Amino acid sequence: MKTKFLLISTAVLFSLSSCKKSAENVTVANNQKTQETSLHDAFNCEMKVAPKGGTVTESNGPNNKLWGNGSVIKVNFSGGSAYVRSKIKQYAKTWENDANITFNFVADNAAADIKIAVNNNNLAWSYIGTDSKFYSPSMNYGWFNDNTSDEEFRRTVTHEFGHALGLNHEQSHPDANIPWNTQAVYDYYMGAPNYWDKAKIDFNVLYVAPRTGLYYLAYDPLSIMHYPVPARFTTNNVAIAPNNTKISALDSAYVALAYPKN
Ligand SMILES: [Zn+2]
Repeated sequence: MKTKFLLISTAVLFSLSSCKKSAENVTVANNQKTQETSLHDAFNCEMKVAPKGGTVTESNGPNNKLWGNGSVIKVNFSGGSAYVRSKIKQYAKTWENDANITFNFVADNAAADIKIAVNNNNLAWSYIGTDSKFYSPSMNYGWFNDNTSDEEFRRTVTHEFGHALGLNHEQSHPDANIPWNTQAVYDYYMGAPNYWDKAKIDFNVLYVAPRTGLYYLAYDPLSIMHYPVPARFTTNNVAIAPNNTKISALDSAYVALAYPKN
């Protein structure tokens, strides 16, 4: 698979021009909701890796945590309203446009590979790829409710399910070359609402993946896996990926290569 991946990556890279959005227009039986008009102002997702699950070595995802191609991945829920669950399903399934993967949402008490918790802890996180199988919950949504906007559901769910498919944070790409103002980054993430320690900030924000053994396409500042980097976090005062809310063309290309449909 590795050889195939490397051989075809360049061709696919330039053949995809836009992400597919058909599933985003699914109508959910709830048009009474008041929609928030802005995005959650503290999008901070923690990427969790199993301690014994192998080393994360790739900028866009470690191949040793990929699901088998064509897998039907079972997903269950704990918590969350019917509306919130419907939105999580809707946006999770947008990855199926490009990846040869099926997310099969099962009953709460049924065995599952991805176990979603919906709560009010203000945290979003997921384990990477098949590490999900070994943890319950394996994915957390801590700020969704019936007033959450569709854009916020889309941004957060596609990001977390990107992790569940095996993708890492894009700001860790070896070609990202982000001129971090590291003190500003530490000051922000160590404060409310995150209270992250230095190690967690280093891993989730400032980490630069080594090239050795990488599966990666070009650095993609439009990736849904990229943290929003406000201008104050950079030494040249330029914001990066400030408003990524959908699967990018390169995100689509990556999962199409990792999970080819033919
Ligand atoms: Zn993340």
